[in-house]
Amino acid sequence: MNKTEIVKKGIELDAPLNLTWSCYERNDMACGRCQSCTLRLNAFADAEAEDKIPYV
Ligand SMILES: [Zn+2]
Repeated sequence: MNKTEIVKKGIELDAPLNLTWSCYERNDMACGRCQSCTLRLNAFADAEAEDKIPYV
């Protein structure tokens, strides 16, 4: 599955996506800029979902 499919599946299953972490740069707040954050944010946007983890 690609990231968008994972986000959609997570929402469908009511999985706690806010407990998942993608950022490679930080571990307190997601940087929102690294490749992994970018992919994650794009996936949530594609899935029309809100990413509830803290971003800088
Ligand atoms: Zn990041």
